[in-house]
Amino acid sequence: MTDQDRGRDQGQGGQGQGQGGQGQGQDQDQRVSGIAAGFEELYGAAPDGVWAAPGRVNLIGEYTDFNEGFVLPLALPHTAVAAVARRDDGVLRLHSADAATPVAELRVDALAPPGVGSWASYPAGVVWALRQDGHPVTGADVHLASTVPTGAGLSSSAALEVVTAFALNDLFGLGLGGAELARTAQRAENDFVGVPCGVMDQMASACCTAGHALHLDCRDLSMRQIPFDLEAEGLRLLVVDTRVKHELGDGAYAERREGCETAARRLGVSHLRDVTHDGLADALTALGDDERLRRYVRHVVGDDHRVTEVVRLLAAGEVRAIGPVLTAGHASLRDDLRISCPELDLVVTAANTAGALGARMTGGGFGGSAVVLVEAAALDAVERAVREAFVASGYTAPRVFVAQAAAGARRVK
Ligand code: ADP
Ligand code: MG
Repeated sequence: MTDQDRGRDQGQGGQGQGQGGQGQGQDQDQRVSGIAAGFEELYGAAPDGVWAAPGRVNLIGEYTDFNEGFVLPLALPHTAVAAVARRDDGVLRLHSADAATPVAELRVDALAPPGVGSWASYPAGVVWALRQDGHPVTGADVHLASTVPTGAGLSSSAALEVVTAFALNDLFGLGLGGAELARTAQRAENDFVGVPCGVMDQMASACCTAGHALHLDCRDLSMRQIPFDLEAEGLRLLVVDTRVKHELGDGAYAERREGCETAARRLGVSHLRDVTHDGLADALTALGDDERLRRYVRHVVGDDHRVTEVVRLLAAGEVRAIGPVLTAGHASLRDDLRISCPELDLVVTAANTAGALGARMTGGGFGGSAVVLVEAAALDAVERAVREAFVASGYTAPRVFVAQAAAGARRVK
C-alpha cells in the first residue's frame, strides 16, 4: 500500500458499513452534497444544514475516563455526516444510509429509555437527553451516513450522537458548548441506549482540533490541545482494526467499572483518579490480598501517569520516546485490566518486533483496534509484518490505515 493509497483510505468511505454509504475516493465536499441530495430524495425538501462529527483513536489513558482521570485522544478523518431539518410538530424522523432499516418515525414526547430498539437509539437518545434538560427540541428530519467503522473501538456511536447534538444545538439555537453537548451525548448513550461508557468518546468527537491530541481531565472536562504533528517528525500512527468485534455489553466493561468503584470506596477516595502515582504502593498494600482490585488500581493509576508522561514528552519534542510508554500501556491492559485479546496482542508483538517504536490496543478492548507508532521509513515493513502475522495465525485480514489528527465536530454546510 502506497502513501497515496492510504490517503485515499482515510475518512472517505470504504470504512463504513458499506450499504449505501458514500463511495470510496469521494472528497468531503462530494460527501456533503451527496448526503444533502439523499436527504432531499428521502424527505422531499432540502435540509437546513449538514454537520459532521469524527470517530477517534485514544493515544493513551484507557478505562481512566470513568475514574475521573486523564485521556489523550485524537479525532480521525472518518466522520458521521448528517443532513438535518428542524421540525416543530413533535415528529422525529431518522434514517441512516448505512443501515438496512427504513426511516424511523418517532414522537419526541414519547421518547423514553430503554431506546427504540435499533441504531436510531443513538440520535433519538440525544433528542431525549436535550429535552430532559428542558431544551425545546420539537422535532427533526435526519439523514446520515458514516465512514467510521462500527464496533472497531473507533467510536462510531459517539460520532452519531455528537453529530446529532451539534445539529440540534444550531437549529434550535440552544447555545451549548462542545463539552456540554458531549455530556448530553454521553447521557444519551448511558441512560437511553443503556451503554455505561465514560465521557472520552463524546468529548473527543466534539472537542478535538486538527493537528492536536486532546489532553482531557475527565473530572472537570478541562482540556488542552496538544500539538501532534507526526508527519513533521517523520513518524506515522498506524491504526490496525483487528475486525474482532468488541462487545461492551457483555458485562466485562461493567465488571471493570464496578471493580474500580469498589476499590475507590475501600481506599476512601471518590474516584481512582485521587490515588497518586507516588501513593500507588500504599494503595496496593491497603487492598490486601484482593488481587483483582489490585490489578485494576495498578492499571488505572499507571495509565493516568502514562498520559501525563506522554504529554510531557510531546511538549519536550521527544516524540519517539512515547513509543515505549504506549507499549507499557498495552502490557497493563493485557495483564492487569485483562481486556486485550490474542489478535490485539499479536498486532503489538508483530509491530514491535518489526521495528515499530511502540504499540497498544485502543478503546474498550476485547477486539477493535490497536495503534502503532512507527518511523515513516518503516511503515510498509511494519504493516507487512502485521499482515503476515495475521495470515500465519489464521486470523481475518486486519483493516489498516494511517491516522492524522483531524478536526472535531462542526457544521459543514
Ligand atoms: P463503536 O462506537 O466502537 O463503533 P459501538 O458498539 O459503541 O461501537 O457502536 C456501534 C453501533 O453504532 C452500531 O451497532 C450501530 O447501532 C451504530 N452505528 C454506528 N454508525 C452507524 C451508521 N452509520 N448507521 C447506523 N448505525 C450506526
Ligand atoms: Mg461506541
